[in-house]
Amino acid sequence: MGGSLGGLTAACLLHDDGHDVTVYERSPRELEQRGAGIGLLESTSRYLVERAGLSLDEVSIPTGHIRYLRRDGSVAHDAEHAYRFSSWNTVYRRLLAHWGHGRYLLDHEMVDFSQHDHTVTVGFADRAIEADLLVCADGVGSASRRTLQPNAVEAYAGYVAWRGMVPEADLPADLAASLTDAITYYVYANSHILVYPIPGLDGSVETGERLINFVWYRNYLIGGDVDDLLTDRHGERRELSVPPGLAAEHHVTEMRATATARLPRSLAEVVDRTAEPFLQVVYDIEVDRMAFGRVCLLGDAAFSARPHAAAGTAKAADDGWALADALASAHDVPAALAAWEPRQLQVGRSLLERTRQIGRRSQVDNSWEPGDPAFIFGLHEPGR
Ligand SMILES: Cc1cc2nc3c(=O)[nH]c(=O)nc-3n(C[C@H](O)[C@H](O)[C@H](O)COP(=O)(O)OP(=O)(O)OC[C@H]3O[C@@H](n4cnc5c(N)ncnc54)[C@H](O)[C@@H]3O)c2cc1C
Repeated sequence: MGGSLGGLTAACLLHDDGHDVTVYERSPRELEQRGAGIGLLESTSRYLVERAGLSLDEVSIPTGHIRYLRRDGSVAHDAEHAYRFSSWNTVYRRLLAHWGHGRYLLDHEMVDFSQHDHTVTVGFADRAIEADLLVCADGVGSASRRTLQPNAVEAYAGYVAWRGMVPEADLPADLAASLTDAITYYVYANSHILVYPIPGLDGSVETGERLINFVWYRNYLIGGDVDDLLTDRHGERRELSVPPGLAAEHHVTEMRATATARLPRSLAEVVDRTAEPFLQVVYDIEVDRMAFGRVCLLGDAAFSARPHAAAGTAKAADDGWALADALASAHDVPAALAAWEPRQLQVGRSLLERTRQIGRRSQVDNSWEPGDPAFIFGLHEPGR
């Protein structure tokens, strides 16, 4: 249940192992344009490369440097480091194309479930189905988590991520060139922004057709400050994010003005030329169980970590790979989930702790030193 990157990866893997799998997705339409850019870690691309026969160059853009700018735009730090960047919808489209469009049921919102000795009943608005295993991959706002782990509340991190993309062709050529060979950071008082290239909206990785993506972490106080930010331009109070084109005018104006006043000119230009910036509130969510008999929580439905390790989709995919392994070597579903759970809890906890520290150092303590390996992206801590 949940047909995003976590649910789809798990579905593909379990299907490959001979299980009879159906994906139920709440959205009435295929998902699109969510999450913008992602740092492509090995677990996220693993299925596409090992099973779907794609090369990394078909789905991502390589960068060779980590670069930090000073306020005046000069380079404060430049180190060779290979990353790959993709976009949420590039990976989603490739996974969905591999899965095929059958047995991916849109407009199917799970409304309840119940377990019995040998099955789990999964309820939708107009019917119910019986299954051996229910994988809840319903994301950061997971209703199944609220049912299974009612104490696992969303803890606001104290900041939001303003995000956006601009076609590289819409930027001056020298600026675009300077931003496509690196991930570029600017770290300043209680804030930081990172900029990197991602595939175009159609998934193209060709020069001239790519996008430049920014993620800018900015502090807002819980209460009226965040409430106002999350109230969109039509007056609707959003829960976790404000989609492209809907952020209130006064916040977009303030954000662009602050970019001009506080960021290096090159990065301010990226922000300024982004037609429809959007924002996502940053939360920590922690569970103490992921396996419940024949039901499990996977990906952001279990732990949702701050994005600083670029590892959210990698963690969701890793949960799926480990689940397939556990099902292959256990005698029944509850035993497989019980064997699967301890390592995945550990992966989630350690990612959560690491990203909390990065967030504290950047948004609160101002102790971010360029070159510190603690800030390197990865599902596991540097060196592992
Ligand atoms: C600012 C920001 C930057 C990020 N950057 C990165 C990055 O660089 N790299 C990275 O790997 N990750 C990044 N992430 C995290 C990444 O987006 C998530 O970790 C990832 O999308 C989680 O995937 P998921 O499949 O678990 O859940 P989701 O992608 O949230 O999908 C959940 C799905 O479940 C469906 N659903 C919900 N309820 C129901 C229901 N009742 N019935 C049926 N379907 C339902 C939803 O419609 C949705 O399709 C970032 C996140 C943020 C906020």
